[in-house]
Amino acid sequence: MKVPLDLESVDGLVIPGGESTTLSLLIDSFDLRQPLINFGKDHPVMGTCAGLIMMAKDVPDERVNPLGFLNICVDRNAYGRQIESSTEMVKYHFNSNTEIEFATTLIRAPKISEMGDDIQVIGEFKGSPVAVISGHHLGLSFHPELDDIDLFHQILFDPSSNVYTKNLNQIYAT
Ligand code: GLN
Repeated sequence: MKVPLDLESVDGLVIPGGESTTLSLLIDSFDLRQPLINFGKDHPVMGTCAGLIMMAKDVPDERVNPLGFLNICVDRNAYGRQIESSTEMVKYHFNSNTEIEFATTLIRAPKISEMGDDIQVIGEFKGSPVAVISGHHLGLSFHPELDDIDLFHQILFDPSSNVYTKNLNQIYAT
């Protein structure tokens, strides 16, 4: 999307990975900040990696001005540099009776350092949340598209998929 009008033709938004300082600059130079904030009030928004940084309320880096959808504080590049990127097996719990493990690729990934009471943690790696949700806002430290993971998209954008009530181990058995 490039202009605010583009938001009128979509039902939800994914803010992808990339570079949050650039995303932040582009959002302001294209006058998208307020239209995005308004859109997110009543539409699903998911942020992955740099997108997660943009979803946060607080980013201790003055070059990034986040949108504030998720009540979290995020540290950029906290899992290491590009060369330290890795794919890890991480366990997720989408509902109370199902735990499912799948590949999770972290690339100069952001770390969630603080979060409010309204934030639900779906997955953790080395003691830090890497997948969080609050209402219709979802944030991931990693890149689900690189490992063909679409569960998060289903949760947020396809309510009929009933991810929360399905037996995911049957569907995603490895
Ligand atoms: N480190 C990047 C940033 O701060 C995010 C990296 C990514 O999206 N893979 O924006």
